[in-house]
Amino acid sequence: MVIHLTGAVQGVGFRPFVYNLAVRHNLKGYVINDSQGVVIDIEGDEKNINQFLIALHTQKPPLAHIFSQEMEEKNIAGYKTFEIRKSKEKGKKEVFILPDVSTCEECFKELTDPENRRYRYPFINCTNCGPRFSIIEKLPYDRPNTTMKKFKMCPECEREYNNPEDRRFHAQPNACPVCGPHITLYTSDKKLVAEREEALKETVELLKKGKILAIKGVGGFHLVCDATSDFAIETLRERKRRGEKPFAVMFKDIQQIKEYAEITDFEEAVILSPEKPIVIVKKN
Ligand SMILES: [Zn+2]
Ligand SMILES: [Zn+2]
Repeated sequence: MVIHLTGAVQGVGFRPFVYNLAVRHNLKGYVINDSQGVVIDIEGDEKNINQFLIALHTQKPPLAHIFSQEMEEKNIAGYKTFEIRKSKEKGKKEVFILPDVSTCEECFKELTDPENRRYRYPFINCTNCGPRFSIIEKLPYDRPNTTMKKFKMCPECEREYNNPEDRRFHAQPNACPVCGPHITLYTSDKKLVAEREEALKETVELLKKGKILAIKGVGGFHLVCDATSDFAIETLRERKRRGEKPFAVMFKDIQQIKEYAEITDFEEAVILSPEKPIVIVKKN
């Protein structure tokens, strides 16, 4: 049986999910990304196939959305295993591209754990979070088609990427301090000041001094300064020629927001959602 799925099914850990699900239900065949979405060919016991089809919808990864499902019967090929196959490039490209997704809880835990190999590594990501839209150059969504192609994974990252039980299995932007991109700090006339951890520490010092920094994130540049410094804010308003309009303010967590603003339950839920949008709230 061949199943064609469309929707937000690429870059969300869908193939590893299908792989694990098929193995769990003792089904053989393969899963592949194509330019319309995901194609699954499964063979096995009818009862198992039915359970597989239900779980496909009820247990799918948190960022996945299925817009349509088409099924066709075909002759049994007699597959011996279930595998994830390399994507095909042909056909009209209609797949839904995900936006960049904010760091998930599990990655945040690693990011703040001194024992973890990604401790304070700014480009941490996994199958459930990280950049998508900003790094895709063409479809289908596979590492060679993203701006991550120039970073060759180190053996440890490669192991995660290839292990179906790892939460970074086929996470296309997978990276670590050894093999991935890193941060550098420059002066406004492009002189190198610091790199990696030093760049991070130096940035904090500059912010405390009331400086304005342009931080290049995955999706563009972001101007930052200390929101509690009148001097910094005035300078930013002057340079941006933005006399009155409010700026977005970043907070450490929801508790800290509550010290400054009155927020409703709905606003809180939106602020904490994976999209983490800018939310306009009422100041205390
Ligand atoms: Zn994550
Ligand atoms: Zn690595």
